[in-house]
Amino acid sequence: MNSFDLVIRNGTVVTAADTSICDIAVRDGRIVAMGEGLEAGREEIDASGQFVLPGGVDAHCHLDQPMGPGVQMADDFESGTRSAACGGTTTVIPFAAQEKGASLKAAVEDYHRRANGKSCIDYAFHLIISDASQDVLVRELPELIEAGYTSFKIYMTYDDLKLDDRQILETLAVARREGAMTMVHAENADCIAWLTETLEAIGHTAPRYHADARPSIVEREATHRAISLAELVDTPVLIVHVSGREAIEQIRWAQGRGLRVYGETCPQYLFLTAEDLDKDGFEGAKCVCSPPPRDKANQAGVWDGLENGVFQVFSSDHAPFRYDDDKGKKAAGDTAPFQYIPNGIPGIETRLPLLFSEGVLGGRIDITRFVALTATNPARIYGLYPRKGTIAIGADADIAIWDPKVEWTIRNAELHHNVDYTPYEGMQLRGRPVTTISRGQVVWRNGQFKGTAGQGRFVPCERPQPARPRGESRGF
Ligand SMILES: [Zn+2]
Repeated sequence: MNSFDLVIRNGTVVTAADTSICDIAVRDGRIVAMGEGLEAGREEIDASGQFVLPGGVDAHCHLDQPMGPGVQMADDFESGTRSAACGGTTTVIPFAAQEKGASLKAAVEDYHRRANGKSCIDYAFHLIISDASQDVLVRELPELIEAGYTSFKIYMTYDDLKLDDRQILETLAVARREGAMTMVHAENADCIAWLTETLEAIGHTAPRYHADARPSIVEREATHRAISLAELVDTPVLIVHVSGREAIEQIRWAQGRGLRVYGETCPQYLFLTAEDLDKDGFEGAKCVCSPPPRDKANQAGVWDGLENGVFQVFSSDHAPFRYDDDKGKKAAGDTAPFQYIPNGIPGIETRLPLLFSEGVLGGRIDITRFVALTATNPARIYGLYPRKGTIAIGADADIAIWDPKVEWTIRNAELHHNVDYTPYEGMQLRGRPVTTISRGQVVWRNGQFKGTAGQGRFVPCERPQPARPRGESRGF
């Protein structure tokens, strides 16, 4: 009875709070003991000189999400979660997206079919609400929240997804009543449409103009409006994929007022700029994502936000489209105006190594903050903690062992996604996850993927905040 399935020895164990050198024992997929000189396990891993971290929780990634006609995501649950595991991530939370006019529940059922038997690591779902009909708000959404789908994303832009302010208010009111978390894609749709038409009229249609059609002011205004709507309803919101200083100022302002406003950013806002969209021919399409990457000053602002606590969550926003593919970036042809290029870039495997190398080993954030941003906070905010996102007795044995001495170069040929490029090709990094463990099973070790499709399980989320029945406080 006392025997352990696995013991990880002598590593520097890091949580969002502490660092200590100790052994970790695993039985039946959970952490059951931590201490010095633990007895032998059936399998042993020596982690001397290495960091033992909670596996990453990637709380913003898109896998096998149904797209418009003629466009297909490059990664399904198998290739996407394989890539995640090889980059030190052990939980993903992709999106079950409702189509306008369709049922939200049907979207969840369809998404389970896509994940089932394919995922190599554990997963939960966020919802995307694109049609805030009475049936969705009154019936489907409360039932889904009760069943463990406790967070959803809403969009202020994209014609096929966006909600207007009234619909956002009504959706936020449901989040408050039912105890759910709302994620907001904050960009002003009308400003973008007007700028896009204006640019097109003067022939500015190359990929680089994508950035001009979505300037910071468009993101700043929507961020402020999302915060105001959430303040009116008195419920928390998380502003996703924040790209630069102006939106950060809005979030900091809200946090200073004591509002429960959270911020998320992503690698593309630390390592890319709008210049990456301005490459020869159509190459800039590889870095078309929304909001777009900005400039060096904004990159510095995003680093500041990670250091000083404006941001709680660091996600990939992995949205995988192949470049040289008529269902990917070239779906509308290789001279298509920028507004027809599928939005999104890959990054599920490079998320953690980029932040570890440049953030932790670069001296910008300490390693406990790295754990908080990439695992503990997302697990807490979305209701998976303490089962996920930390190293503690009773938690799932989801662990990434990092060797800070490894030096390596990002090469797409060596990544495990199904995308034919990475925006970070050729970047030299220090530190890498050398072993990833998912519920006690080694899924990545010494450069080899060891997992199997289907071993990952669906994990329902707890309510991130207490439900507040009608009548309390503001009378909702
Ligand atoms: Zn988004």
